[in-house]
Amino acid sequence: MLQAIIDFFKNLFSSFSGGKKETPPTKTSAPVEEVPTTEDALPEIVDVEPQDGADMPLEDLEEDVVLVDVEVEVPAVEEPPKDTSEPNQPTNNETSTEPDLPKETTPAHTPRYLWILDNGHGNKTKGKRSPKWEDGKQLLEYEFNRAIVKKMMESLEAKGVKYHNLVPEENVGNILKKRVARANALNAKSEFPTVYISIHSNAGPEDQPGNWSSAEGIETWYFRTSLNGRKIAKIFQKHLIYNTNWVNRNARTGMAFYVLKHTSMPAILTENGFFNNKKEGRKLLEEETRQLIADAHVNAIMEIEKYGFKGFQG
Ligand SMILES: [Zn+2]
Repeated sequence: MLQAIIDFFKNLFSSFSGGKKETPPTKTSAPVEEVPTTEDALPEIVDVEPQDGADMPLEDLEEDVVLVDVEVEVPAVEEPPKDTSEPNQPTNNETSTEPDLPKETTPAHTPRYLWILDNGHGNKTKGKRSPKWEDGKQLLEYEFNRAIVKKMMESLEAKGVKYHNLVPEENVGNILKKRVARANALNAKSEFPTVYISIHSNAGPEDQPGNWSSAEGIETWYFRTSLNGRKIAKIFQKHLIYNTNWVNRNARTGMAFYVLKHTSMPAILTENGFFNNKKEGRKLLEEETRQLIADAHVNAIMEIEKYGFKGFQG
């Protein structure tokens, strides 16, 4: 009886190994049991477990290589449908010809995410300011970032989108750890999935010491291993270029920004033009440009509110 059982297993295994021999050999002789058969959607980092935070071991955080996501399509005709229910411009200057008519309310939006808005820096942040223009004006990055976040909040409020102003206080420095701690705490108790948006303006290398930079354009950063971050970054980058028509520096990863690295939710960081480019920085002072940039962020948010991260986890 025992012998019968042993024979049974012998036959079983011999038939398995026999079957294995019939399969065509794999191209490489690497001692890997399972060779992936499908091409992965992402060219790099495919062997890293996808995650949206930045709780990667530090040794994995190589920051010396910047990967520029060249697949970002320059938006043209395939622009996703914009919100047609209301104009982009705030209706501040309504004429008084229609006194107190019941307002045509837009259909209530069903919130999908909680958008955590990080206004990058505070008035105690060192540097982060342009040289002065001839008329004495100067761009302070923290002020620009906050102006964009303020405009975004007004718009999101009107649309019924959930958001949170991460650092309402102005009299602060970078407080990066606090920003992350606040965001992660919020994420832990939020009934909605959260997304982290950090808003900045860029500084390029000075052409001459103390002078302006010739760097220009807009780029959006995501954390290297965050698949959703990459998708979100591409959507924001698309809308930012569409609205401004500025130089497209694409979605990027490889620089482990602290807030991208340590947040526990999908996170991106937009660099909206170079404040130390004499021409571009000057535009960043203008109300009109700021509105375009804020609207681009809101349009990206509305696209994601509508479609989620659909089609990404391929
Ligand atoms: Zn910044």
